Amino acid sequence: MHKSRIPLIAGNWKMHHGGASGVELAVAVAERASELAGVEVVVAPPFTALAAVAHAVEEVGQKRGRPPIGVAGQNLYPEPKGAFTGEVSGPMLKEAGCRWVILGHSERRQLLGETDELVARKTVAAIASQLHPIVCVGETLDERTSGKTLDVVLRQLRAALDAIASARGAAVVAYEPVWAIGTGKVATPADAQEVHAAIRVELGKKDPRLAEVTRVLYGGSVKGENAKDLLAQVDVDGALVGGAALDADGFGLILRAAHALASPPGSA
Ligand code: PEP
Repeated sequence: MHKSRIPLIAGNWKMHHGGASGVELAVAVAERASELAGVEVVVAPPFTALAAVAHAVEEVGQKRGRPPIGVAGQNLYPEPKGAFTGEVSGPMLKEAGCRWVILGHSERRQLLGETDELVARKTVAAIASQLHPIVCVGETLDERTSGKTLDVVLRQLRAALDAIASARGAAVVAYEPVWAIGTGKVATPADAQEVHAAIRVELGKKDPRLAEVTRVLYGGSVKGENAKDLLAQVDVDGALVGGAALDADGFGLILRAAHALASPPGSA
């Protein structure tokens, strides 16, 4: 974590908490977040809960006199409207109260065949809709063991780089090694830092300022117990959290770890 970038912790709920339980979880997260200045918090519920969650977190923000936590879609379709059955557009996410959208998650790349080119188009569409995209990149276990980690991650990043650059820091990159997602196997802080540093170098080749302002999150089995060591790495600007985001106490521990690093004692 570098003091020039505000840490961002985002919870990807995947296909969980699509109704009343989502509102309950979002309120509990928003209440915890309101006590932790200096950390930006985002939750990504299923589409069916977005509007209700956005409304509920707005109310918590007002009650606590704090800006509301962010709400993210987990995907969008890169056209604003039309005959695309089952899809949801950027303007629709915006209307539901989202400020964020997760794009190119490995589950979508692997299960639904999303290509680098499609993720790039989605990134352009998100920015056109004034949504902050969280663009996910990451290698599979085979790619890591055959020494292709940086080739894969940088290829995925380059595909969306023009769009990311056009957002001038409003877009976020999430490095999520596929072998670490939902497996309990977490990258070592040093391995995560190596890839994050390479991502930042690539951003800097496009524009040195872009490298300074763009946040790069780590994702893959982040929990309260390992968050501090990962977030302490200089190029790790936050976390994209799956399983541990499904419960407010567990997610709260990660928020606390980020808060402690962002506001060390005596720093006020
Ligand atoms: C994710 O789905 O983005 C993720 C990182 O999941 P988990 O934290 O469960 O590994």
